[in-house]
Amino acid sequence: MVPLKQKGQVCLSACKTYAFEEVHAALREQLDALHVEELLFPGCRVVIKPNLVIRSKPEEGVITHPAVVAAVAVELLERGAGHVTVAESPGGPYTPPLLRAIYEAGGYTELAQTYGFSLNFDCSYGSLEAPQGQRCKRFDVIQPVLEADLLVDIAKLKTHGMMGLSAAVKNLFGCVPGLMKPELHCRFPEREAFGEMVADLCCALKPALCVVDGIVGMEGNGPTGGKPRLVGALAASRDPFALDMVCASLIHQDPMHVPYLRAGMKRGVCPESLDELSLWGVPVQSLAVSDFIQPESCSVNFLDWLPKFLRPLAEKVATPVPKIQTNHCVGCGKCAESCPQHTIRIAGGHAVIDYRKCIRCYCCHEMCPKHVIDIKRFRLFRF
Ligand code: SF4
Ligand code: SF4
Repeated sequence: MVPLKQKGQVCLSACKTYAFEEVHAALREQLDALHVEELLFPGCRVVIKPNLVIRSKPEEGVITHPAVVAAVAVELLERGAGHVTVAESPGGPYTPPLLRAIYEAGGYTELAQTYGFSLNFDCSYGSLEAPQGQRCKRFDVIQPVLEADLLVDIAKLKTHGMMGLSAAVKNLFGCVPGLMKPELHCRFPEREAFGEMVADLCCALKPALCVVDGIVGMEGNGPTGGKPRLVGALAASRDPFALDMVCASLIHQDPMHVPYLRAGMKRGVCPESLDELSLWGVPVQSLAVSDFIQPESCSVNFLDWLPKFLRPLAEKVATPVPKIQTNHCVGCGKCAESCPQHTIRIAGGHAVIDYRKCIRCYCCHEMCPKHVIDIKRFRLFRF
């Protein structure tokens, strides 16, 4: 795979709709500015990794809009890519029927036929070494990504219960096959450790090109249970960490509160401020949304005034927990299936959580198809 290049260069364009021509025109200019053609060679196999975490329609603001993926695919094919395939391992089991349902609901099946890219149904996986990894030296990764000459990461701009932000770097967690994702949540239950693992994975995968669909983002309790919010931004870079620094600014997040960006800064792969970036296009402040609603899970910074030795315990108690709206739960068990701690059971027709083992990873919240798992603090810590 192609190593990270053009460190720190980020392209940002205003784009208010998903009309294909508008999206295509903005992306064409960005890919020109990033000299993407130098990454391609005859017969080059490109794999695009979008965010298709659950079965969802494009207008719900959960998944990467297919118009963005189609526009990138068209550009890469025109610039010399031999073949473009979309590959994703969503939450839950990694199976062809689930992939088919997700592609269909997300509008990918139709656009793949129209614009000449393929959809992956091969659910095999292999091993990726991460010699520089600080938390993880080896990852299981889906086969098409392992075999790609060029990995293109096309993420959605969203809040995230555990990481605060989901954009280019976090999107790559979907290269880990199916139910192996909960295993990593179990191995790295703390936000800090999980963020370091996500940074390890990004550095090992080395995406050649990253795009973030921030035309409509997700605010509130993302990455699946929040609300769509118009941001009107399309961003691209060959440097995933630099791109996510811009994304954090667009939704008014402090990058120091995003564990994987902090991890990137510590190891010198993430710039520490926007001043270190080379920005192309419109200014970040012209598109930033100052009242973007942040996830409730990420507001424990009031603990800063406590003595250091008390903070881990206080943070554990004050960090919000998943709460099931039992009157709306249909007992489908998707939350239990995704829980790395196996701490959810179905009883009396609805899900019940045993909080003693809960590590606050919010996988259950992310995977509930009915969006009936809230993230709430215990009453004493609500303010
Ligand atoms: S995934 Fe949602 S609807 Fe299904 S059992 Fe869990 S809480 Fe209930
Ligand atoms: S109950 Fe939900 S938040 Fe708690 S460990 Fe299980 S999946 Fe994670």
